[in-house]
Amino acid sequence: MPDARKNMTDRRLFFWMDFEDEIQKRAPKKDPNFDLNGPGNKRWKKFIREEDGFKIFAVSGETVRNNVDVTFGHGGHGLVHVCIPLDEIWIDMRHYFCLDGCDCDNLKRKNQPVSKEFFESTTIHETTEFLEMKNGRRFNESDPIARQAERGAGLLVDPTTEIDWPYPVLKEVGGKMIWVA
Ligand SMILES: [Zn+2]
Repeated sequence: MPDARKNMTDRRLFFWMDFEDEIQKRAPKKDPNFDLNGPGNKRWKKFIREEDGFKIFAVSGETVRNNVDVTFGHGGHGLVHVCIPLDEIWIDMRHYFCLDGCDCDNLKRKNQPVSKEFFESTTIHETTEFLEMKNGRRFNESDPIARQAERGAGLLVDPTTEIDWPYPVLKEVGGKMIWVA
């Protein structure tokens, strides 16, 4: 009997296996006090600004992954992630290690905070992708268009290459999120 899996071009089954493993691995990290929509979400979700009809938030991606969505990466919007309202864009404050990690180049430490350049490039990616998908394109067509928009903006050498560490990082100072050197 030939091994049907060996010749399968559709890899989604393998994604489901990794996905389920990740959920089980993260189960002990769930926060019993996690608050998705109430005032308690200010602990992990920080408002940055409004832009083009979107509210941009910096989030603790680990908190999102541990409590609502293990597939959340550098950023996301409501047409890919059910937990994100349609008028919000969420950007992770750190590079991540889950489902094999973000695999970005030029990282110097585990869970390295993202630079302002990376944060803004990811924001361009997510807003572009959302608008493409809203216009009817599927994710796998919209993602490369969003990558291209990032390259066009030119904030990074490449969308998956971080700038040289050290750089200012996002911190809450006096109730406001600012980039601190
Ligand atoms: Zn990364």
